[in-house]
Amino acid sequence: MKIAVLPGDGIGTEIVEQAVRVLNALDLKLEMETALVGGAAYDAHGHPLPEATLKLAKEADAVLFGAVGDWKYDKLDRPLRPEQAILGLRKNLGLFANFRPAICYEQLVGASSLKPELVAGLDILIIRELTGDIYFGQPRGRRVSPDGHFPGAEEAFDTMRYTRPEIERIARVAFEAARKRNKRVTSVDKANVLETFQLWKDVVTEIGKEYPDVELDHMYVDNAAMQLVKAPKKFDVVVTGNMFGDILSDAAAMLTGSIGMLPSASLNSSNQGLYEPSHGSAPDIAGKGVANPLATILSAAMMLRFSLNQAAAADRIEAAVQKVLAQGLRTPDIHSEGTTKVGTREMGDAVLKALG
Ligand code: NAD
Repeated sequence: MKIAVLPGDGIGTEIVEQAVRVLNALDLKLEMETALVGGAAYDAHGHPLPEATLKLAKEADAVLFGAVGDWKYDKLDRPLRPEQAILGLRKNLGLFANFRPAICYEQLVGASSLKPELVAGLDILIIRELTGDIYFGQPRGRRVSPDGHFPGAEEAFDTMRYTRPEIERIARVAFEAARKRNKRVTSVDKANVLETFQLWKDVVTEIGKEYPDVELDHMYVDNAAMQLVKAPKKFDVVVTGNMFGDILSDAAAMLTGSIGMLPSASLNSSNQGLYEPSHGSAPDIAGKGVANPLATILSAAMMLRFSLNQAAAADRIEAAVQKVLAQGLRTPDIHSEGTTKVGTREMGDAVLKALG
């Protein structure tokens, strides 16, 4: 089992270090190789995703990724910015399915911005299509407007598009995931206004017939945004397009209290995957040893479960995380009165100890 370890920038290196320590403690035959990515790779090699890093990622069974980015790279041409490394990896590895679980741990109910009774026991999975939609659709660009409200004015445009096979494969991923959970899928669209999402709805409905044991419902994205903050526990698996998923998964993240707790996985059709915390490189706290490593440690657990077929080891990590939370250990982002504040490394130590 080969893992490409790409810590990246900012807190990326600090949190990935803790996840690697946890993986090493599991007594599995894991071969881990580290490479530069993002701003660190740009500084060393002039590109955020050097050939050698891409090769390592392609040859690995899974990629454990930290985070990339820093304000100091914001003036670079877009193709050289750290964040382009993630897009490059998604594209080159064909990572079309993004899994973002939003779980509200009992011990952290108070950290949510919603009332405890709305989020206690929350366990939803947002599945976002990751390689299509308006983020990748062509044509796009800037031009002189040929028509519309202000002909002759400068305008910018993007294209929303999905093909049937793209919708079919993400729908199947969602139904399969629901089968392993509470057997409910909510497909989020905007079929009342957009042709793209009328096709989305039609295709998801068709694929749903292959899964009679899974209950399917459809929801417009504006209503889904409302329901997510009104009654989030109503959802089980939510499947949606790239842009809607981008926005809804961040909203769902906040229901749980801290972005420092949320793992994510992006998979291709052969279950090769990239695993990363849902947050960014947090330049504001980088180097201070206070970042929460749990999202990355939980991403490593997802990696074991989805790409490396090691569900028992994944269970062990998740149980260890629950245990340290029950012990009252908290990094500053989730700290509250009556709990014990710890740093990044101490949190890693505690998870290692809790593994037993
Ligand atoms: P961010 O997620 O890095 O930080 C947002 C806030 O959350 C900050 O206050 C930060 O301190 C806090 N935070 C994030 N992770 C934390 C953790 N593990 N523990 C404790 N606190 C944590 O988002 P941002 O500030 O908007 O972006 C910073 C940089 O990260 C930018 O360059 C952005 O482009 C990049 N970014 C990268 C990714 C990625 O690598 N996948 C994702 C999002 C943003």
